[in-house]
Amino acid sequence: MNKNSSNMMALAPNTSNKRETVCIFGTGDFGRALGHKMIQSGYPVVYGSRSTQISNLIPKDAEVLGHAEAAQKAAIIIIAIQRQHYNFLTPLAEVLRGKVLVDISNNLKLNQYPESNAEHLAQLLPGSKVVKAFNTVSAWALQSGTLDASRQVFVCGDDVEAKQMVMNIVRALGLTPLDKGSLLAAQEIENYPLQLFPMWRFPIFLSLGLTAFFFFYCVALDIIYTYIYENNNFSFFIAITIPNRVCPVMALILLALVYLPGIFAAIIQLYRGTKYRRFPDWLDKWMLCRKQLGLIALAFASLHAVFTLVSPLRAFVRWRTSKGIISQALNNKTEPLDHTNAWLSDSYLALGILGFFLFVLLGITSLPSVSNNVNWREFRFVQSKLGYLTLILCTAHTLVYGGKWFLSPSAYKWYLPNIYILSLIVPCAVLVVKFVLIFPCVDKPLTQIRQGWERNPKYSE
Ligand code: NAP
Repeated sequence: MNKNSSNMMALAPNTSNKRETVCIFGTGDFGRALGHKMIQSGYPVVYGSRSTQISNLIPKDAEVLGHAEAAQKAAIIIIAIQRQHYNFLTPLAEVLRGKVLVDISNNLKLNQYPESNAEHLAQLLPGSKVVKAFNTVSAWALQSGTLDASRQVFVCGDDVEAKQMVMNIVRALGLTPLDKGSLLAAQEIENYPLQLFPMWRFPIFLSLGLTAFFFFYCVALDIIYTYIYENNNFSFFIAITIPNRVCPVMALILLALVYLPGIFAAIIQLYRGTKYRRFPDWLDKWMLCRKQLGLIALAFASLHAVFTLVSPLRAFVRWRTSKGIISQALNNKTEPLDHTNAWLSDSYLALGILGFFLFVLLGITSLPSVSNNVNWREFRFVQSKLGYLTLILCTAHTLVYGGKWFLSPSAYKWYLPNIYILSLIVPCAVLVVKFVLIFPCVDKPLTQIRQGWERNPKYSE
């Protein structure tokens, strides 16, 4: 036999490997979707239902029997029924003895019951082996085949063999099982589908709070102050001018806040002389939402870019430009080109463009489909080294833009600093401390600590 034909045999499906029958209790949305997927994957499916009448909705190759009769046909029974109906299973205890029961149920509220649904099922049927699985997959995704974003199936259970059998089914359906340990993990797994953007809550609230603060700060200094002291009505600044000030400020501060927890972590590790002691809770939580902070920062930076691009279309800008031209014409004098100004404006634009480009690159590499294709070292290089370079470029963009009037007394309306000055505090602090941290005398012990060395082993409880 030549090499090609042996390869073809290896690729041919193994038709002799017949799959075991799986029983599904409940012909509701999830039971039907899962049954459909199982039949597609080669599993004979038998439904246990209160009504043995076949409806059009039930997958056509499946059998529908009474619960006891259906359970006898399979070693694995998937309970696609709400928890509040589980009591009907108690009379079936003998038929279900020794069988693997897969609990897929979810609740309506976080920690709705004192014990998880899977533990409740195990208490009702102590002779059966209960495994928790599939609850984070939706019936719609199973049916429509749009499982790309949610291929992971969390599995937990006390019986290792039963868990393995369920994980084999998960794999056969083209999904990825993730072993979460014993049945004690069921409560946590049941809470997953009920969480609403848990990692986004802090970044969103922080961004909303800071945006509101900077927006009203600008309204006070740019509209109210000008109205009171210069008798100019610039209320239309609310539409573009002020958002175009708040967006870059927010982008810069949030980007700095992505790198600030890393600085705190380094200082704490240096102070403690070990990496084996847990960080304070607030720092742990902050570190976990850095990606979200970075993505919100990127959204603000993108808005700033769009607002800046539409600037020449604005009536106010066109009026100001034509006013300048007319005044030069009336005075019959052309103002000479201010080379310093030309350098400054070209420089801050170039820094802004480069900073924005790297910002977008950071955002793209944080997408799972991209980050899965780079190794850990490459990912760290982009997120850390290029991330700091982005912060340097964006900070320099702001400094060059406002540098010449930051120190002028007219920038301090009501003795308050301009928001650009405020926006530079956190990024500059991060960059200065980072600069100190890369000094060899600081970097060397820090690297050793991160490799497991301990200055004072008493801390590593
Ligand atoms: P469903 O459409 O309401 O179906 C539940 C099925 O349970 C019914 O079709 C019925 O099947 C059976 N049933 C209802 N009352 C019963 C009773 N008193 N005694 C015995 N059986 C009874 O619910 P579902 O959306 O399929 O959800 C089923 C389970 O899957 C739930 O625990 C849910 O949390 C979980 N889940 C659902 C999804 C989803 O996307 N839908 C996703 C993950 C997990 P028969 O008429 O055939 O007896």
